[in-house]
Amino acid sequence: SSWWGGVQMGPPDPILGVSEAFKKDSNPKKMNLGVGAYRDDQGKPFVLSCVRKAEALISAKQMDKEYLGITGLADFNKSCAKLALGADSEVLKSGRNITVQTISGTGSLRIGANFLSRFHGGPRDVYLPKPSWGNHTPIFKDAGMTLKAYRYYDPATCGFDHSGALEDISKIPEQSVIMLHACAHNPTGVDPRPEQWKEISDLVKKRNLLVFFDMAYQGFASGDIDKDAWAVRYFIEQGHNIVLSQSFAKNMGLYGERVGGFTVVCNDAEEAKRVESQLKILIRPIYSNPPMNGARIASTILNTPELYSVWLGEVHGMANRIIKMREQLEAGLKKEGSTRDWQHVIDQIGMFCFTGLKPEQVERLTKEFSVYMTKDGRISMAGVTSGNVGYLAAGIHAVTK
Ligand code: PLP
Repeated sequence: SSWWGGVQMGPPDPILGVSEAFKKDSNPKKMNLGVGAYRDDQGKPFVLSCVRKAEALISAKQMDKEYLGITGLADFNKSCAKLALGADSEVLKSGRNITVQTISGTGSLRIGANFLSRFHGGPRDVYLPKPSWGNHTPIFKDAGMTLKAYRYYDPATCGFDHSGALEDISKIPEQSVIMLHACAHNPTGVDPRPEQWKEISDLVKKRNLLVFFDMAYQGFASGDIDKDAWAVRYFIEQGHNIVLSQSFAKNMGLYGERVGGFTVVCNDAEEAKRVESQLKILIRPIYSNPPMNGARIASTILNTPELYSVWLGEVHGMANRIIKMREQLEAGLKKEGSTRDWQHVIDQIGMFCFTGLKPEQVERLTKEFSVYMTKDGRISMAGVTSGNVGYLAAGIHAVTK
């Protein structure tokens, strides 16, 4: 007998499974709209020029490769928090945050989930928007938390279900944890408007909920890093001591470098010190300390004025290309003769578009047009280019007319 005879075959990852099927397809027109990684207008992976320049600067310095501390590269942590909270944040000035370098957004969420699991005194329930990023559920579950949900997406309008969300949030037991996507909600591309965020903030305060912000797309929604951080900064101004996950995968194109940050906003600097000590105790037996290369790249960009402004321009360029593709897809559908309302394709924001396609329509689009996407009808707009947007519009029209 074998040690592992009782291990059952698990299902493939729903998103990475799409890429595998795509690879096997020999149709030259095939499109992979599954995975959320930015592509340029030629459909190629894009390395930002600020990243190439930072790499050259780092390489020229011939630095050593000694271990980082448990919480990572200090310069990175500082500028990571500043990017999210804003240069003149009261929290930063009073030193009442602790920000640690993490293994991208996923690692940040997991450290956060483990921290909550160990120290949050309230209910162990984490309320996710319905739907949420698929990995949120196993991240919190594996950390020992329980998952609940609040209404978020309205299939009837392909938009935000504001009244449904408020109604559900008003019933969340006090001191529970609520997960909010800071901007460019994944998978729906639907964000609350500022006045809706304000109502959510008031209600969340009334319910005394602990807010967990996931900010994986800062800059990627509007093209403006400050605009995209508005909700996070507003909640803090309103007195919420939030916890925050950040990722530099999308906005710096550092996917495989795994660069992220986890922040806890505390009551005061003394509390932040205590939290830091416990984060260290938590991280040490998991991966000891984070990798340095990506953090050096991000830190160099954030702390070199010339590279920083190149970066802002490149973030803007990526977001703009996606916005342009949304407009061309909507126009293409009209041109094909679709009588449906595709305004949501334009109204949604960030990397993803929740098309509203039904599972059977997705299946046809894949079978007949070699367009690969997740069954929920989500497409990654980042995989759409001037060269293939017409083909995509024709395919979507064919399966929805
Ligand atoms: N959170 C959300 C909502 C995401 O969409 C993603 C990536 O797709 C992440 C977090 C984390 O990604 P990474 O671990 O690559 O930074």
